[in-house]
Amino acid sequence: MFAEGKSVFRSRRLEPPETWNNPSIGKLMDIALSARSQVNKLVPGNTWEMAATVKTNSDEFGKLKIFQPEEVSTDSQLTELLQVSEVRLISDESASELLVEVLPSKGKFCERCRRYTSSEEGRPCQRCERVLQTLRAAVR
Ligand SMILES: [Zn+2]
Repeated sequence: MFAEGKSVFRSRRLEPPETWNNPSIGKLMDIALSARSQVNKLVPGNTWEMAATVKTNSDEFGKLKIFQPEEVSTDSQLTELLQVSEVRLISDESASELLVEVLPSKGKFCERCRRYTSSEEGRPCQRCERVLQTLRAAVR
């Protein structure tokens, strides 16, 4: 039903750089794609409406931190890879394998990036607000 592990490279704004042609980075992508396929299994509809919690052991946690250094983020590479509005990344020694939980995002819809990452209805999210400020400054 889902094209597991195939769709991610075709998703918007995500082109693997040439430096990714490297075995340890391949391992890293395998972990991220495994999380992505869990999100796909859990969410039949628009995954951008969701916030994901990713729990895993310290080894995989250390690798995934490359994609998201913060515990919680709405604009990390990990949110791009999982195609969700927010990711909470947690190290859990009791997790023998990577566990993904999803809940509807608490954020409000951002018209600009079409994610649920805004703190206020009808306003762009913080990331888009920064972009818009830069644009405003450039055309002033
Ligand atoms: Zn936005």
